Amino acid sequence: MRPEILFPLFAPITSLKGVGPRVAPLLERVAGPLVRDVLWLQPHSLIHRTPATLADALDGQIMTFEVVIEAYQRPHTKSQPWRVRVSDTTGFLTLVFFGRFADQLEQRHPVGSVRLVSGKVEDAQYGRQMLHPDYMVDPQKAGDIPEIEPVYPATEGLPARRVRSFAVDALEKTPPLPEWQDAAWLAREKLPSWRDALDRLHAPLSDADLSPLAPHRRRLAYDELLAHQLAMAQRKAARRREPAAKIPAGDLARRLRADLPFAFTGAQDRALSDIRGDLQAGERMSRLVQGDVGSGKTVVAMCAMGDVIDAGGQSALMAPTEILARQHFETISPPLAAHGVGVVLLTGRDKGAARREKVAAIASGAAQVVVGTHALFQEEVAFHALQLVVIDEQHRFGVAERQRLQAKGQAVHLIAMSATPIPRTLELTMYGDLDVSRIDEKPPGRTPVATRAVPMGRLDQIVARLQDAVASGAQAFWICPLVSESELSDLAAAEMRALALKAVLGDRVGLVHGKLTGAEKDAVMADFADNRLSVLVATTVVEVGVNVPNATIMIIEQAERFGLAQLHQLRGRVGRGSRESACVLLYDPPLSDTAQQRLDILRRTDDGFVIAEKDLELRGGGDALGLRQSGLPDYVFADPFVHRDLIATAGDDARLIVHRDPELTSERGQALRVLQELFDWKAGLALRDAG
Ligand code: ADP
Ligand code: MG
Repeated sequence: MRPEILFPLFAPITSLKGVGPRVAPLLERVAGPLVRDVLWLQPHSLIHRTPATLADALDGQIMTFEVVIEAYQRPHTKSQPWRVRVSDTTGFLTLVFFGRFADQLEQRHPVGSVRLVSGKVEDAQYGRQMLHPDYMVDPQKAGDIPEIEPVYPATEGLPARRVRSFAVDALEKTPPLPEWQDAAWLAREKLPSWRDALDRLHAPLSDADLSPLAPHRRRLAYDELLAHQLAMAQRKAARRREPAAKIPAGDLARRLRADLPFAFTGAQDRALSDIRGDLQAGERMSRLVQGDVGSGKTVVAMCAMGDVIDAGGQSALMAPTEILARQHFETISPPLAAHGVGVVLLTGRDKGAARREKVAAIASGAAQVVVGTHALFQEEVAFHALQLVVIDEQHRFGVAERQRLQAKGQAVHLIAMSATPIPRTLELTMYGDLDVSRIDEKPPGRTPVATRAVPMGRLDQIVARLQDAVASGAQAFWICPLVSESELSDLAAAEMRALALKAVLGDRVGLVHGKLTGAEKDAVMADFADNRLSVLVATTVVEVGVNVPNATIMIIEQAERFGLAQLHQLRGRVGRGSRESACVLLYDPPLSDTAQQRLDILRRTDDGFVIAEKDLELRGGGDALGLRQSGLPDYVFADPFVHRDLIATAGDDARLIVHRDPELTSERGQALRVLQELFDWKAGLALRDAG
């Protein structure tokens, strides 16, 4: 329940002075529906209204002048404005006024009087003008003009200055709240109180105050980060209180490993022992295993399944696409079957008697491992003793979907796998409620993919090379991006590319895209995997997990449009064997600086974790990483990059709080509840949490 003290902040914006039915929708667009949202608006720049001389007037600038009123030019028709000629010793300016109040101008500012005028200078046909000055006052009342004025986000019909007045009113309506931060810490970090921070936010004294590094902004960012970390720590603690079956390390996993033609990397070993630690703890596991494509996550998960099987339980492995589910099945089914384990593949394509048979095997427990797609969490699918759920490409699934699968057993353990490496600094932000293992080591014996950036103008050259390579038996992916708003025109682009390549390379060119049915996609993929096709033109459907070991060439069109992480994953489709592989990043010149640097990073390294860190540093922004889709929260004050030092502190702080005061009943605990309400982190959490 929301504490009463917060009611004024959670009131609708119509409770603000001057916000009626016309303004409300506009303000809502700028800020949000609540007074709190207006309170949280942040000025993005400052207007300095220090007086200047007319000789220094600059087109487009907001400036202030002390002038003498020289003459009035009244309008001839209603639609014309009043024009007022003013001057100082260095030049002239025309003030322009439309509307009915303009008639009173001459009375209020008679010819010969001196006025301070402030507003935006524009070059017009007849010289410099100022349309509707923001201020026009007697120099004796210079105090009416703020020397520094923060500029707020605005929208059509709602100018920044009105928005500012609403923000100021919201600030006035803000009740005093109990301090939720540790007083000693605030003093040490030299951070202001919450109220002082907000006051400063809305009354910045200098440009430095607009920086996210300014103490008051850091304070607000820290509040937000702590609210979030606290919610995640609480969830994690709640999960740990849920008892789950203890699953010991068994012999099957040992035998499965012994059968593998390779030894685990150190990172795989560490991930498996992390998982085993969880499985034996008697608490429900929620562990994220992060690692590049091909880093060997699936075999690690298979060993965990081995332990579950030994303990008499069932495991489910869920993949986002049919193709991927099939490949997983083909990977893990033979080794498991060799030890007498029943493995079933269930996808949307299973129908009729075959499907009934599989569903029956899952219900009876005859199927100890079930691999599948979304088909797995349909209602008719009941498990005999589901104990472990493994989710591949976890960001492709909604929380509700994962929970529906987990609900098919009791206190089911979860392994989420992700091939989108997240920078360390962001791990806590995105997965603070999960335990994380990183597989940051590649299996030995892989040659790095030679990566080049090539301008589109040299397309013919690339096609000619491709022709040679194909003639000597190579296989290639050719990726066309999904860039436009319309899927259809992207599709058309991919179709054109396939046709153009066919004209050169002949029939061994296939096309796969999102509009094909599952069966059609699989058929094309199968043709490619079995080397009946040499070139596979694809929209980004191959992004996830597809394994074609013979493919050694990856060509990506309009590479500058892809996020770094996505490019990295696409490139991961090749270079899976020991043969030399190549990746060509085709781009439309000119490249922006950032795009150039991003392509450079990709050429220099193939470590997904390094790439993720660099991408974040470059600040092509979270979106280049696809972070937003993968669950990076939309903070108001906190910037996961700028405030990265605060994230770790907030995480530690949150853990300590949950440890000492799990129910938040202490004085600080109660203040922290107010903080959580303020930032909505309780309600929003279920939607974002990954476990
Ligand atoms: P991921 O799921 O992380 O993409 P996989 O588990 O599918 O990776 O492994 C990719 C390929 O590498 C598979 O063919 C797998 O058998 C092989 N592999 C896994 N671990 C090792 C290892 N330690 N040494 C050599 N090959 C490995
Ligand atoms: Mg995989």
